[in-house]
Amino acid sequence: MDFVEQLKSSVDIVSVIGEYVRLRRSGANRYMGLCPFHNEKSPSFTVHVVHQFYKCFSCGASGDVIKFVMEKEGISFYEALKSLAERYGIPMPKRSQYADEDSKLRGALLAMHELAEENFRANLRTQAGDAARAYIAKRGLNAEALEHFGLGYSDRSGRALLRLFEQHQFPVTQMEQSGLVGKRQDGSLYDRFRNRLMFPIHNESGKIIGFGGRALAAEDEPKYLNSPETAIYKKSHVLYNLHRAKEPMRKEDRVILVEGYMDAIGVTSAGVRNVVASCGTALTDKQVAAIKRHTQRIAVNFDPDAPGAAAAERSVDLLLAESMQVRIVELDGGLDPDEYCKEHGPEAYADRVEHAKGYFYWLADRARAKHDIRTTEGKVAVLEFLLPKVQRVNDPLERMTIANDVAGYLGVSQGMVLDRFRKAAAERSEKAIHMPKSALRHDERMLLNALLANADWRAEIVEQMKALDTIDTLPSRRIFRAIFALDDSGSRVGFDELHARLEESDQHLLAQAVLRDDGELSHEEVAAAIASMRRTEDQLRRVQLKTRISEFERAGRLEEAMRLTMELQGLERSGLGHGSRRGSH
Ligand SMILES: [Zn+2]
Repeated sequence: MDFVEQLKSSVDIVSVIGEYVRLRRSGANRYMGLCPFHNEKSPSFTVHVVHQFYKCFSCGASGDVIKFVMEKEGISFYEALKSLAERYGIPMPKRSQYADEDSKLRGALLAMHELAEENFRANLRTQAGDAARAYIAKRGLNAEALEHFGLGYSDRSGRALLRLFEQHQFPVTQMEQSGLVGKRQDGSLYDRFRNRLMFPIHNESGKIIGFGGRALAAEDEPKYLNSPETAIYKKSHVLYNLHRAKEPMRKEDRVILVEGYMDAIGVTSAGVRNVVASCGTALTDKQVAAIKRHTQRIAVNFDPDAPGAAAAERSVDLLLAESMQVRIVELDGGLDPDEYCKEHGPEAYADRVEHAKGYFYWLADRARAKHDIRTTEGKVAVLEFLLPKVQRVNDPLERMTIANDVAGYLGVSQGMVLDRFRKAAAERSEKAIHMPKSALRHDERMLLNALLANADWRAEIVEQMKALDTIDTLPSRRIFRAIFALDDSGSRVGFDELHARLEESDQHLLAQAVLRDDGELSHEEVAAAIASMRRTEDQLRRVQLKTRISEFERAGRLEEAMRLTMELQGLERSGLGHGSRRGSH
C-alpha cells in the first residue's frame, strides 16, 4: 500500500475534522456541522465516515482528510502528511517522495521543460525535422506562426533530452518525474517523445509545463501523445493558448473554445486571437473558472462530426452550471476552424462567431432533427430533452426567458405541453436554494449506493443495471458507466477508485448521492429502486415506439406501424398496475 493510502486508512476523518468543527451525527454514516470554509448559520458541511471524505453543499469545499488539513492550516501536501503522521504515530517513509522539496522539484521541472523546448525548436531547423516541416507547410502555417507558438521536433534517437538533462546534472528521479523521460522494464531511461511535431503547453503565466506531440509516421500511435500529469502539469487545470488569449478575451469580452492545438494556432495566426483549446478532453470546472476570470461569454466551436457535437454538449452542461453565456459556432462545408479561416478569411470567421446560435437554439435544432414536432409526442420528446439543460441555468429569470424563447422557437406557443415545460423550468429555483436537494432521482441514488456499498449488493444487481438503456439518460450515467467498467475489469469498486475515474462535475454528483444516503440499505428499498428504474425504461420505450409509429403512419408504412402498435400494446398491458410512471424524486 502507498503511504498516502496507509495514512488515510489509519486516520479517522471524523476525529480530525472534529478538532475544527463541531460535528453531530446525522445518519448512519454521516456527520454534519457548520462549514469551516465559509460563513453559514445552518449546517451544510457533511462528513462521510465510510468513504472518508467531506463536502460542503453550500460552498462546494470537498476532499479527503489530507486536503482538509492542507486547506485549514494553509500548509503543503507534504506538511499535512507529516502533521497527520505525527499525530497518529505513523512513521513517515525514509526515502520520501513527498519530501518537502516540492518547490525545488517544480523549479527543476520548469527548467527541464525550457531546455526541452529549445532542443525541439533547434531540431526543427535541421534535416531530421524535414517531415515535421512538411506537415506544418501542408497545414499552411508560416514561419512566424511557427516561432510564435514555439513548435518543434523531437528526434528519433530517444536519447536527446536524456543526454541534455544528464549534462545539466538533473538527478534521475527528477528526470522521471518530468514526464519527458520514460523508464523501461530493465530500468533504463528513454525520451518519451520521439519523431513527433511538438507543441509546448503553457500555464496561465506563460511557463512551459508540458507538451503535446503529434505523430509524423502513420504507424506511430497514438496520433497525439501528451505529457502525463506531473508536479507542474495538471491536465484538468490547463487550457491550451490561454496565456496568449487572455488579453484578447478581455478586450473582446468573449472566448472561442476549439478542440485541438492546430485549430487554436490556425485561428490565432489568421488574426482571431481570443481562442483557447481544450485538447480532446471534456472541459473541467477548473478550466471554466480560468476562463471566467476573463470573460463570461463563450463561443464553442468543436468539429462538426458526431464526437465533436457530443463533446460540445458535454462541455456546455458545465458552462451553463457556471453561468457562462454559451453560443455554438457551426461552420458550413464541414470545415474545422483552422480550415475555415484559411478558406474564407478571418473576417468571415469572426462573423460566424459573432452570429453563432445561442446554445438552446442549437440544441433545439438537434432535437428537432430527431423528432417530429408537428405531433404532440414529438413536442413532448423535444421539450423533455431540453428541460434538464434549461434547468442547468442558474439564474431563474434567465431560465424562464430561455424556456419561453425555446418553446417559441419550436413553435410550441400554447397548451399543456408548454405549461408543463414552463413549470418544470421554474421549479428548479426552489430546489437550488438549499443545495442538499439532490440533482439525482431517489432510485438513482439508491442504486448508486447499493453498487458502492459492498460486493454482495453489486453481485445481486449489477447485471440488471447494465441491461437498462435508461441509465444513459440519467445525470449520473457516467458514474454508473465507471462502476460497470471497474466491475468488468475486476478491480476493487471502492469510493476512492471510482472518485479517481470521474470528472469533477461527476465527483460532485457522486458526493451528493453518497452523502444523502441514510444508513443501511434494505432489500425492499433496493428492489423498489430497480422496479422504479424499470418503469422509466418502459416509459422510454413507449415514447420511442409512439414516435416511430407515427413516423411509419405518415410514411404510409401501415404494416410496420401495426406491428409496433401491437408491441406497444403488449408493453402497456405488462405495465398496468405499475402505478406512478416516473421514479419519485
Ligand atoms: Zn462551505
